[in-house]
Amino acid sequence: MDFIPYGRQSIDRDDEAAVLDALRSPLLTTGPRVAQFEQDMCQYLGVPFAVAVSNGTAALHCAVHAAGIGKGDEVILSPLTFAASANCVLYLGATPVFADVLADTLLIAPVDVEKKITSRTRAIIAVDYAGQPCDYTALRELCNRYHLVLIADCAHSLGATYGDRSCAFHADLATYSFHPVKHITSGEGGLVTTHRKEWADAMRRFRNHGIDADHAQRSREGTWRYTMKTLGYNYRITDIQCALASSQLKKIDGWLERRQQIAKQYDAAFAGDHRLDPLYVHENRTHAYHLYVLRLAEQYGANARQQLFDFLRSRRIGVNVHYIPVYQHDYYVQHHNGGYVHCPNTESACERIMSLPMFNSLSDDAVARVIAAVQQGLSDLP
Ligand SMILES: *Cc1c(COP(=O)(O)O)cnc(C)c1O
Repeated sequence: MDFIPYGRQSIDRDDEAAVLDALRSPLLTTGPRVAQFEQDMCQYLGVPFAVAVSNGTAALHCAVHAAGIGKGDEVILSPLTFAASANCVLYLGATPVFADVLADTLLIAPVDVEKKITSRTRAIIAVDYAGQPCDYTALRELCNRYHLVLIADCAHSLGATYGDRSCAFHADLATYSFHPVKHITSGEGGLVTTHRKEWADAMRRFRNHGIDADHAQRSREGTWRYTMKTLGYNYRITDIQCALASSQLKKIDGWLERRQQIAKQYDAAFAGDHRLDPLYVHENRTHAYHLYVLRLAEQYGANARQQLFDFLRSRRIGVNVHYIPVYQHDYYVQHHNGGYVHCPNTESACERIMSLPMFNSLSDDAVARVIAAVQQGLSDLP
């Protein structure tokens, strides 16, 4: 039996040709393919500015920097996410404050966000968990009322829509990741979008050591002078990576359709099963299905989940758990009062969820094998 991973990339001949082309061109980094990919993403997402960087974590760091987050500030986010969503707040000496998720969707609960707002709150980071957009109407309303910046961590939601617009359109700053398990890949890569030119400029500096003009502009102007204006990093992405990313983006529509088709097959197979507690998907949102999350019914706990997980792994199915609450990581417990945070909906869900294989090249046969194994694993539960 072949091992079925929970996610994997698809690379075709066009991708290979695009990368070869970049390799044979004069500029391997900070060249025309970076700007082209940024433009491609602006067009796809319907936003005016995009800044491509070396990975999704760098994108988050750029976003909180552009939002002006600093020492003493608080940023509210859901704990049901990859640690990077919260770590970016710590990078700037600010404090991540965790608001609980809604039990039905596992997306951040605007009501709990409002409870956590203090005079120090500066921003909200909305994580489109599994690929479903958060409640951008309610979050925008809170941001307007309390003068907060709305940052969207869209690592799961490339291609998702809220109403008929992208998540990036609804946020002040939105970040993407192009790690191989995400919708499109550049090996490693990330990108931030914004509606504000001054924020885009600040992020372009931030990705290049805080230096103002780029080398192309200096060479056009025939000058060697440049100045470092702020403390920045080297978060640049290469033309080789952006060539791959642009080539991948061309295929996103068909790939999303396939992910949604797979989700439908899983949904249909598990519908009405009293041992399961499926996540709710809202009518006016399209789900991009970075993950397909299976959730056991409330009567089950961590032991039943472990049993099902072990059974599926023994059947060579690469299930995974996304995620343990960020505040429960050792580092957060030891250094950031993680042991004192309590988000009941998050903790209850975390004991009962697992992610099933979900990627566009997953075959119907493989989906059927996963479904049969899940059904057998469920019938073995006490
Ligand atoms: C993947 C991911 C990131 C980080 O992206 P990298 O490119 O791996 O740095 C951030 N947030 C979420 C929710 C992710 O899934």
